[in-house]
Amino acid sequence: MTCRDLIDVLDDYLDGRLERDEVAALERHLAECEACRAYLATYRKTRSLGARAGRVEMPDEMKTRLRRFLRERVG
Ligand SMILES: [Zn+2]
Repeated sequence: MTCRDLIDVLDDYLDGRLERDEVAALERHLAECEACRAYLATYRKTRSLGARAGRVEMPDEMKTRLRRFLRERVG
């Protein structure tokens, strides 16, 4: 799994919609990738803030910014 793959399935992961082997691959990547751990922490926080405010969508701008952050960190 690459960082991009992880970002693509992160919503499903947090919602518990991934297959078990997909979860295993994702968590294996997380264990090795500090940038994705940081991304996941931020993403989780943003989602819970959004949920409290009655919104479920993560702002596109935030996604774009985090993707750019990851690209710079990971290449
Ligand atoms: Zn990564």
